[in-house]
Amino acid sequence: MDSSQKTTSHNFLYIFWIILGFTFLGAGYLIWSQYQQIVFLHNQLILEQASTTEAILQLTTDKDVLTEKLNQTETILTETVDRLNAERDRNDDFEDQISQLAGTVGILDKVAKTDPELLQKYSKVYFLNENYIPANIKKISDKYILSNKGDQYFQGNALTFLTRMIDSAAKAGVDLKIISAYRSFETQSDLKGQYSQVYGTGANTFSADQGYSEHQLGTAVDLTDPTVAGTFLTFKDTEAYAWLQKNAYKYGFGLSYPEDNTFYIFEPWHWRFVGVDLATDLHRANASFYSWDQRKIDGYLVSLFD
Ligand SMILES: [Zn+2]
Repeated sequence: MDSSQKTTSHNFLYIFWIILGFTFLGAGYLIWSQYQQIVFLHNQLILEQASTTEAILQLTTDKDVLTEKLNQTETILTETVDRLNAERDRNDDFEDQISQLAGTVGILDKVAKTDPELLQKYSKVYFLNENYIPANIKKISDKYILSNKGDQYFQGNALTFLTRMIDSAAKAGVDLKIISAYRSFETQSDLKGQYSQVYGTGANTFSADQGYSEHQLGTAVDLTDPTVAGTFLTFKDTEAYAWLQKNAYKYGFGLSYPEDNTFYIFEPWHWRFVGVDLATDLHRANASFYSWDQRKIDGYLVSLFD
């Protein structure tokens, strides 16, 4: 190879290096610019992510706010419904109270019109005032009265119960007769006088003291049958007495002084009207009027003539 050929080959090499150099430079630039692009996109992505997270957070907050508002609305609604129901209940209560009040007024009126003496227990210590006269007294039809006993009177409202009882007994073949019913204080005093004459001081133990108040009330009656025809202890052995023991309560009557009572001597003939309610309850409890507490008895005043 000659020198000119050597120069040409050097030139080529030189050019080659230059081209190679530029190529590297170009490639380097490309890589750098790609890298820049990647960095840019990466940053962009981070930004996007951040804004998305923020958006999600915002949505979550919005959801929470909405949920809370919904809950609040629900609470308000529930409270309103509760208040409405409470109001309705109060109205119902008020209506109940009014009707109860009306009922109470009715009961009070009934009690006020019923003489409390009619269910009063009397004793030798506590007896009816001598001036007491029953407000409503009616004559008993003669057919119910034992012959020669004269006119007899009974408390007007209780009279129908008495006559129904005697009629009912008659239907069952039992002949009940009235010996004595309403007795005024004066009549009673006279009677006590008679008894005293016959029985001496022992008269105080029956007829006059305890029983008189009930007769003065107009709701007590002495009953007999024609075989005994008087206020005698033998009346307890009659069919009439057995019928009364079994049925008198249905007409509101009860034996004031039953056998073996601790309040007064046994008077099988002496029956007092105490109302069907009380007489029935006493009969069921196998108790007598005088064995029950006065306050308990007073509770029956309202239904005395039912
Ligand atoms: Zn009597």
